[in-house]
Amino acid sequence: MNLIHHLLRNARVDPHGPALASGRAVVATWAQMQKRVARLAGALRARLAIGERVALLMKNTPVYAELMYACWHAGLAAVPVNAKLHPKEIAYILDHSGAKLIFATPDLAEGAATAAREANSPAPILDITGADFAALLRAEPIPYAETAASDMAWLFYTSGTTGRPKGAIITHRMLLAMATSYFVDIDPPAPGCIVHAAPMSHGSGIYIVPHLMQGNCQVVPESGQFDPAEIIDLLGHWRGVSMFAAPTMVKRLVEHPAISGARVEALRCIAYGGAPMYVADIKAAIGVLGFRLAQLYGQGESPMTITGMTRAMFEAAMREGRDDRLASAGVAQSVVEARVGDAEDRELPAGEVGEILARGEPVMPGYWRNPEATAQTLRNGWLHTGDVGSFDADGYLTLRDRSKDVIISGGSNIYPREVEEVLLRHDSVHEVSVVGAPDAEWGERVVAFVVCRNGAKAKQEELDRLCLDSIARFKRPKEYRFLDQLPKSNYGKVLKTELRKLLAASPLP
Ligand code: AMP
Repeated sequence: MNLIHHLLRNARVDPHGPALASGRAVVATWAQMQKRVARLAGALRARLAIGERVALLMKNTPVYAELMYACWHAGLAAVPVNAKLHPKEIAYILDHSGAKLIFATPDLAEGAATAAREANSPAPILDITGADFAALLRAEPIPYAETAASDMAWLFYTSGTTGRPKGAIITHRMLLAMATSYFVDIDPPAPGCIVHAAPMSHGSGIYIVPHLMQGNCQVVPESGQFDPAEIIDLLGHWRGVSMFAAPTMVKRLVEHPAISGARVEALRCIAYGGAPMYVADIKAAIGVLGFRLAQLYGQGESPMTITGMTRAMFEAAMREGRDDRLASAGVAQSVVEARVGDAEDRELPAGEVGEILARGEPVMPGYWRNPEATAQTLRNGWLHTGDVGSFDADGYLTLRDRSKDVIISGGSNIYPREVEEVLLRHDSVHEVSVVGAPDAEWGERVVAFVVCRNGAKAKQEELDRLCLDSIARFKRPKEYRFLDQLPKSNYGKVLKTELRKLLAASPLP
């Protein structure tokens, strides 16, 4: 099974329906997209053999979806690269993936060239706005490749916050399982479109598949990135809008001054994930957007598919006053088995905290060219996520933190998220991130990095009081540091490693 079948089907079933759009303008129907894809595939196969890799170093553009499907049509694997990486990191990915061809948007072509030189990569770089790319679109179309479902469709490089990034092998079957599960566990099919405001090299790109499967248009904001004002403008044009967003994007959208005049009814569903969303932010988002939030928890190794929470689940949790449910990551998605395991991977009872394990159709067969990391991550038939959490008796998973972010102070485990949730209740606190700092007496001590709302200032005594009122004394931060903003990745994840570096650079006197 090759994912290209969905595009071929759409071209037959709805040839004149909108397939790709840039902002408000439709740029291709399904029939047009399918023809361009078959020609691009012809051009690719004239240069590359089945199974080879094609790097995509592009900001969001409708061509992203075309190149992805062209790779699949041609029996190749796409290697989407985070556009904001350092050339050295890109060089590593080009070298490690062995990509034979690099597609770049004009803004990234120079960075791609620097990275390719660094990697000694002979792969040609094609600017998707250039004449060479236009020539590819005139190539002879080819029949689609008879790929097996187990063949690699996408080589997904993890963010690599510790050490080198690892390439999770994502197969056609995994994406099919992810997409099927989307309709059951995240949001049922409905006519509309997906707006790709989050990076297409990551979650938004993965969600091309379920939205293309249901024949919905792929809309890419003209800016090629997340700009709340642009999203609000697009809501004035499109209907049944779905999006994938990191929690920080949801927050920025909801707090944008123009949201009060937005046509919120045009929004169907924002599926958020990739990082925790705090209860206070969820409630604020529901207050502004209504019940239009869904959530997914996954990772490159099991893309978008471990647990999930539908709009209906959010509605029930709000109705029943279940903040614990709002703070959870939902329930196991239908195509996956998820459990919290002990050191031997035995299932822990409800309420007990351990590493989250997953197995099933969406789980990767391994990391590309990295047998050691594969063996370490896929032990006993389970994917070891490196995330720590607990299931409740009703099957809702509460994620604590990445295991490496858990703070051990005086022998007790402290989950930063629990402390963050409390500090966020302070009116002046806009964002917060809690990390452990080395401490001679306690092993580690709790430090909170706090970003205040415009002009506001949270007093340390008030923050302390909030903590003393809600959580055990030993979990209270021993130190507060105020920042203008938190360091974040392109995918909206707070970079705790950067915060730890800040601490190392200026320890307590
Ligand atoms: P990535 O492989 O870059 O998608 O990162 C996956 C990691 O992001 C997971 O292992 C979690 O630590 C985190 N993550 C993903 N989804 C969620 C979620 N819904 N809530 C909290 N953390 C999440």
